[in-house]
Amino acid sequence: LFKRPWVFIRGVPAMKFLPPEGPPEIAFAGRSNVGKSSLINALLEQGGLARTSNTPGRTQELNYFVPGGFSGEGEDLPPLALVDMPGYGFAQAPKDEVDRWTKLVFDYLKGRVTLKRVYLLIDARHGIMKRDADVMDLLDKAAVSYQVVLTKADKIKPPAVLRLKSETLDKIRKRPAAFPEVVATSSEKSEGLDEVRAAILFAAAG
Ligand code: GDP
Repeated sequence: LFKRPWVFIRGVPAMKFLPPEGPPEIAFAGRSNVGKSSLINALLEQGGLARTSNTPGRTQELNYFVPGGFSGEGEDLPPLALVDMPGYGFAQAPKDEVDRWTKLVFDYLKGRVTLKRVYLLIDARHGIMKRDADVMDLLDKAAVSYQVVLTKADKIKPPAVLRLKSETLDKIRKRPAAFPEVVATSSEKSEGLDEVRAAILFAAAG
């Protein structure tokens, strides 16, 4: 499935523009610059699919991707859709923009029954920051399953990656909706990608 060419189907700036509920959805969230576009492109082996240079505040939309070759009608639905959520955490973001982000994301998390899991990306150099913890609160409140993925693991030494994995697990242990496994990835070095792909398929089937 991940080897097929994927296509962008639409950007959703508000709930009323969501496509009709169809295939299971897996969403990706993370601070701006966490490496979200790079990870999506690496998972799908398609450079340039998700945009890799998100300028502050530009993409305030849920971006939908599906594997190509499905008509999307009747029985011919794609087995999975990936949803790239807008990045968060720009220091200079005005409050109304942050509020708009929170509303769109929370409405989506609460209201989308076909959403199976959110992949929450955390930069391996920084670990869980305040805004990430706020987003985890939101996910726990919406009771949407989420799994933490560490990005840019190539930027720190292997023992530090192991240490961060176990520290991160400790931090999420008491969170009700957190999946109790953390995957370390590097889009640059193609590491951890198969593990994430397998977890996505498993979550989508669940
Ligand atoms: P986004 O804003 O979350 O979509 O982040 P991007 O995917 O655009 O990546 C932000 C920056 O981090 C870019 O300069 C990427 O080249 C870099 N980056 C992303 N993933 C990796 C990685 O796995 N390793 C390294 N070393 N750099 C990465």
